[in-house]
Amino acid sequence: MLKPKEINTENKSKKRIYLSSPHMSDEGYEKQYINEAFETNWIAPLGKNVDEFEKELAAKVGIKAAAALSSGTAAIHMALKAAGVGEGDIVFCPTLTFAATANPIIYQNAIPVFIDSDYETWNMSPEALEEAFKKYPKVKAVLVVHLYGLSADMDKIVEICKKHDVQLIEDAAESLGTTYKGRYTGTIGDYGIYSFNGNKIITTSGGGMLVSDNEERIAKVRFWATQARDNARHYQHSELGYNYRMSNVIAGIGRGQLKVLDQRIEKKRYIFDFYKRELGCIDEIDFMPVNDWNKPNCWLTCITLTGKVRPLDVIIRLEEENIESRPVWKPMHMQPFYQHYDYIGSNVSEKIFENGVCLPSDTKMTDEDLYRVVNIIKGLWK
Ligand SMILES: *Cc1c(COP(=O)(O)O)cnc(C)c1O
Repeated sequence: MLKPKEINTENKSKKRIYLSSPHMSDEGYEKQYINEAFETNWIAPLGKNVDEFEKELAAKVGIKAAAALSSGTAAIHMALKAAGVGEGDIVFCPTLTFAATANPIIYQNAIPVFIDSDYETWNMSPEALEEAFKKYPKVKAVLVVHLYGLSADMDKIVEICKKHDVQLIEDAAESLGTTYKGRYTGTIGDYGIYSFNGNKIITTSGGGMLVSDNEERIAKVRFWATQARDNARHYQHSELGYNYRMSNVIAGIGRGQLKVLDQRIEKKRYIFDFYKRELGCIDEIDFMPVNDWNKPNCWLTCITLTGKVRPLDVIIRLEEENIESRPVWKPMHMQPFYQHYDYIGSNVSEKIFENGVCLPSDTKMTDEDLYRVVNIIKGLWK
């Protein structure tokens, strides 16, 4: 990769455009639910907002049970534990993702094996996954990610997991609202997780949710996540516990945000279409793949560059105009912390990383803001 050049800061006074920032409802739903928590003094990691947020989200995506947790990372950790992943177990995980996908595998003292992406989905390649099963026949779980709101090729991945009798966990942190053949991502495997971190499509400032049709396992996760307190008057523990529950105040923000999820998705798709319309004519720009079975939430619009203009040229040029953009996630098998773990594939993820840029996809952007971004990018080809 190129070294960052000096950034010219003369344009810092121009209106800042963010990659993806929190966007509360115009109606103030979030504050109403927070006020309710204050009025009833339920300022605890328990209470009506938590229960209702779980029910409302489960109903929205069409699944039986949900556990509201302190982060998406905590939700992945609990999903792995619920799936029985423990010391020395192998977990297949895509290499092209955020480190938060892989880290909980290490929390469980398990072993990640990184799987390459394909160009059709940018997500876990079913072919590479099959390859991986040839090398490692004994695997505890497959952790699939739906990157940037694009869904993975789930029919093939589900089939492979069934064939090998392995639990499937979906990291849908970036893809709440994305559907794959009409079903919401996060509800197709054995477990799914969502994140409500500040930059995600809806946010609670920080938080996550674990979902499953297995109500008994979700009840178990709620138990682990509240310090694993046995049902006894004295403090008794027969299992290792965690303090991973979502607070009742935060859950109020989530309930409000859930009401505007569809609006946010609509705007994210509008942004994707806008960029595609305005930049699609440049031969050296390719857009992230959208398949006909995939109705993405378009959390971020990402492009790859095939010519002389490089990702860092775009990122630096936008930064000079006070506009935030980002490289695509750096693959896990290229990370200093993870490079010692095995990687199965043919370097598709490296290519996407080398050529990829995430464009500003903030739902508060106006058409004027979008034109500003588009014109700056077009200028790089003049
Ligand atoms: C954001 C994110 C997470 C982690 O979610 P947090 O709520 O920030 O802990 C996990 N996986 C992916 C792919 C993410 O983008």
